[in-house]
Amino acid sequence: MFNENEARGFSTLAVHAGVEPDPGTGAIMTPVYMTSTYVQEGIGQHKGYEYSRSSNPTRDALEAAFAALEGASHGLAFSSGLAAIDAVLMTLRPGDEVIAGDDLYGGTRRLFTTHYAPLGIRFHFVDTQDPANVAAALNDRTRLVWLETPTNPLLRITDISAVAALLKDHPARLGVDNTFATPALQQPLALGADIVMHSVTKYLGGHSDVVMGALMTRESDVDAELRTLQNNVGAIPGPMDCFLVLRGIKTLGIRVRQHCTNGHGVAEWLAAHPKVDKVYWPGMPGSPNHEVAARQMSDFGGMISFTLKDDSLAASRKVCESTKIFALAESLGGVESLIEHPALMTHASVPAEERAKLGIDDSLIRISCGIEDTEDLIADLRQAIEG
Ligand SMILES: *Cc1c(COP(=O)(O)O)cnc(C)c1O
Repeated sequence: MFNENEARGFSTLAVHAGVEPDPGTGAIMTPVYMTSTYVQEGIGQHKGYEYSRSSNPTRDALEAAFAALEGASHGLAFSSGLAAIDAVLMTLRPGDEVIAGDDLYGGTRRLFTTHYAPLGIRFHFVDTQDPANVAAALNDRTRLVWLETPTNPLLRITDISAVAALLKDHPARLGVDNTFATPALQQPLALGADIVMHSVTKYLGGHSDVVMGALMTRESDVDAELRTLQNNVGAIPGPMDCFLVLRGIKTLGIRVRQHCTNGHGVAEWLAAHPKVDKVYWPGMPGSPNHEVAARQMSDFGGMISFTLKDDSLAASRKVCESTKIFALAESLGGVESLIEHPALMTHASVPAEERAKLGIDDSLIRISCGIEDTEDLIADLRQAIEG
């Protein structure tokens, strides 16, 4: 039987994590247990399953896989990435304070400011690229520090260990949204985080066919609190979605390798192009906190943003609307390459002055390199930029 402690490489882990042959039949893939309830032999005599909101064998296998991928002891699956973040926020009480990055995923910021702030939770949004800004906002009411690294869409990097060190003797928990990096490239728990979160919708699922979220932790008390919320609220994924993600995870290692190969090739090509102005990709030498990225990540991923020298809206719109392989769509992390215009699409809900402050201007284009061949992606961008 596979023992995850014996896995040496990430791809080996990804193929085997969480999945054991079905005890009844030997089926190598975990069956899809499409059932809401479980028959008991006598009252209270059951095989560990009573009702599928509380637990389901297909979801159990996936949650074990989530834990293994992040080097955690506990994994929890939710019906979306935001439902996972919501579970973390539900552990807070009025008067508690949260320090969060100022360049968060738009939906996360919206959940914080429109739902939890009016309930009496205070949020400090700071530029976490410099941990001193986190230190300055920390006080005895801080209960949660929430980071994304790399961020969306500017691929900004925060030093996870440096922020964890600030919280060493502080009761606040450190949560890291690891969606962009994936556990193949960065493992926040090993760097001192208490909770890792994923929008499984993106790289873990990997095939643009499921919306799901995950939380992972090494701390039993944190797991117990979050698991109770998962059951009390019931924002759980169904067994078919769990099966699709179990299948997706098997190729996470090999997919991320190709995403990174494409990231390198496309970022370098863009940076050398006379019509391109700035390229945001953490693997670019000289990019902000590049050394931190090189230390805490094993590679730099396939998410790239860039601006054109012609900074008109018309020029960036034309590029976004002329690619043939890159599909014009929100989301990221799937096998197919996507292109989008943050100011008009994913970040349209961020007020214009906030966008300007962050550097999300009208000329910014974001791409998610899929796993196609690098030469084809470059040829597609060439015809869109030069055509
Ligand atoms: C997509 C995304 C989320 C939200 O996840 P959903 O699955 O869409 O609910 C949170 N954080 C990041 C970084 C994301 O990209």
